[in-house]
Amino acid sequence: MMNILFVASEIYPLIKTGGLADVAGALPVALRKKGHDVRLLMPAYFGILDKVAPIQNQINLGNPFNVGDLILLETQIIENGTPIWLLQCKSLFEREGGPYLDTSGLDFEDNHIRFAALSWAAAVLASHGNLMGWQADILHINDWQAGLSAAYLKSWKMNHIPIVTTVHNLRYNGSFPLKKWHDIRLSNELLSHHGIEFYGQFSTLKAALVYADAITTVSPTYAKEILTEEYGDGLDGTLRAHQHKLYGILNGVDYDQWSPTADSEIPHKYDITSLNQKQENKLALLKENQLDEDLSQPIFGVVSRLTEQKGLDLVLEAMPSALDQGAKLILLGSGDKELEQDFLALQERYPQQVGIHIGYDESYSHRLQAGVDALLIPSRFEPCGLTQLYALKYGTLPVVRKTGGLADTVFEEGADPNGFVFEQADTPSLIEAMSRCIETYHDSNTWQERQKNAMRYDFSWEKTTDHWITLYESLIK
Ligand code: ADP
Repeated sequence: MMNILFVASEIYPLIKTGGLADVAGALPVALRKKGHDVRLLMPAYFGILDKVAPIQNQINLGNPFNVGDLILLETQIIENGTPIWLLQCKSLFEREGGPYLDTSGLDFEDNHIRFAALSWAAAVLASHGNLMGWQADILHINDWQAGLSAAYLKSWKMNHIPIVTTVHNLRYNGSFPLKKWHDIRLSNELLSHHGIEFYGQFSTLKAALVYADAITTVSPTYAKEILTEEYGDGLDGTLRAHQHKLYGILNGVDYDQWSPTADSEIPHKYDITSLNQKQENKLALLKENQLDEDLSQPIFGVVSRLTEQKGLDLVLEAMPSALDQGAKLILLGSGDKELEQDFLALQERYPQQVGIHIGYDESYSHRLQAGVDALLIPSRFEPCGLTQLYALKYGTLPVVRKTGGLADTVFEEGADPNGFVFEQADTPSLIEAMSRCIETYHDSNTWQERQKNAMRYDFSWEKTTDHWITLYESLIK
């Protein structure tokens, strides 16, 4: 039995902007089911205290950043009983906006201090367990937000606690101008090319890569891709230098949340033997979007952050060809303002066939997954991707670019094809893949067979937690 301190800046169901929250909400629960004592650490953002169990204990870590006291509040996630420490600091975390962005969508100016504080608290908890009566055997940090924990432990010469860094997306590297360096209270010694310096800035993710005992990323293919200049986002050299400690462990799915047999968000539950009920969800989704209620044509769906990474500009270009063949598009997403406007314009052009919902809506994302026939994920890069895994379970066939975790989970060839795959991130390749999808859709036996294949794939956490346990154990030894 190991004690694991798991640090993340977003954890479902408390707060979520993307896949990190899903992973941080599910992997610790899966590890706890195997008998390990995992405890979480996250900032006490505005409103979070209303969503957790009553505070059981608290400890004041002082005021290392001169922004007010850092206070650790000990409580539990109500839905699954997982112990969590919330880092309270009024001036840093109790404000309007998201976890990283203000209400107008800009990065908070003091994000380096906000997440230095989270990392500081993690490092104190990990190295001074006697403070809380619980000593971690492993510190597991996620992404740039928790990255400086590794640097603090390094600078305090606390080398006894093994650190695992998980990279959920290398593009977000926590880089800040050097003029902010003195705010985070690290010695200049660490600010070298082999340390935290990053092209004339400093990078908190680089700190997490350099000073960790193991680096993991969220799929085997992405673990290989990030060693190349094309996918390395400037960190490929660092990753190659630390390749001996780099592992790719595929994310899992929490099937308690994402399964059409148990999903309380969808109007008609179904399984592999009742796919006709999926048609009912499709009809309900068409009604909800006030679209033409013709079930004989496929609906393509998108649930995504709207960013360059996700390749949705290709969908804008490819879609008219599919729409002209009778297909439909239903999208849920938010992000890049230009993409938002372009999708709304497409809806105006095809009001009977295109339904666009700009925003973030957890419940609707379930109805969409259950109601559409195919999910478009033409990502330029994709560390793991969770939406294709959810789609598979709902008998919704993913149409994906062959990259990262998409390449590891969606197959068009072989014994058990479960979707449609294309190689090049360009419009003609996407159009061809969508055409193959439309053609297969109209061959209902083949389509249903592929749906059933998709639903049979098992990407549960139960299957992957053993990889984590093996990794942690190897580090403790
Ligand atoms: P990323 O972490 O890069 O955003 P993932 O596919 O790993 O991509 O995870 C995205 C998660 O966020 C999924 O759970 C997906 O359902 C959810 N999601 C993305 N956009 C929205 C949205 N607009 N509304 C609701 N959920 C969304």
